[in-house]
Amino acid sequence: MTTHSKTVVVTGVASGIGKATALNFAAQGCAVIGADLQYSDENRARLETAGVTCLVADVRSTASIECVVNGALADTSRLDVLVNNAGMGMVKQIGDVSETDWDTVMDTNLKAAFFGCKAAIAAMLKQPSGGSIINVASNAGLLPRSHDPVYSISKMALVGLTKSLALCHSKDRIRINCVCPGPVENTQMIEENFVGRSDRQEVVRELIQASPLARAWDRMISPGEVADSILYLASEAAHMVSGTAIAIDGGKSLGVPPD
Ligand code: NAD
Repeated sequence: MTTHSKTVVVTGVASGIGKATALNFAAQGCAVIGADLQYSDENRARLETAGVTCLVADVRSTASIECVVNGALADTSRLDVLVNNAGMGMVKQIGDVSETDWDTVMDTNLKAAFFGCKAAIAAMLKQPSGGSIINVASNAGLLPRSHDPVYSISKMALVGLTKSLALCHSKDRIRINCVCPGPVENTQMIEENFVGRSDRQEVVRELIQASPLARAWDRMISPGEVADSILYLASEAAHMVSGTAIAIDGGKSLGVPPD
């Protein structure tokens, strides 16, 4: 797998899957530009030590995501990879969802990726080598979940966006794929599952039980495992791969596992 000397933009880089992804690309010798709302001192130091540029940007703003992508292009004269990773959860039933809730989730999980793709495709169209875009969806983008309908809708639409744009731009050598993680440890997002629960280990056990492979290995999915699939999709090894949705969910989206 080679990704050397590529220019890579990663959104939501300050923690979890985005951080692991940025560190993976930096370790490959890529120029990595990250964007996030904010950074802890510890995570910023870890990223910057690895050579990752840490920008502050709210990807819900079309102007901000364009600025991040176009800034990377201006600095390195190319854009090889965009990882639309920034995202947020929303555990609410329809009766409790306000218009603001809907807009916030859709703008973060879907609109940001669409306009990120728009800016990246404009840059990649000018390169004979095209480029690669990876969207971070979810197992909820493959099989909707009953506890978070707005999140599920946003991620299903992100899978649809991936396939639609992949179909439009394969002719330009621009590949667009997505990854669909299941419950991933060491992320801010998974922390939402522990709110109001006194026994963390019990919650971890429930999360592991929800995915047959996680159950078989008796552990959760790691950010690095998702980051490795993203690295593969960006690499020459995946030059004939576009429009796929790779489930890194321990089989969670396959349905109800046997006892
Ligand atoms: P995380 O909460 O640790 O990371 C998400 C990052 O996105 C955070 O650093 C956050 O600040 C950033 N972000 C959120 N809104 C933003 C905005 N408007 N502008 C810029 N940055 C913004 O969680 P994670 O698991 O690493 O999440 C990464 C992606 O993985 C998300 O799209 C999420 O939906 C997806 N995902 C996560 C899990 C999981 O179990 N953690 C499972 C499936 C899918």
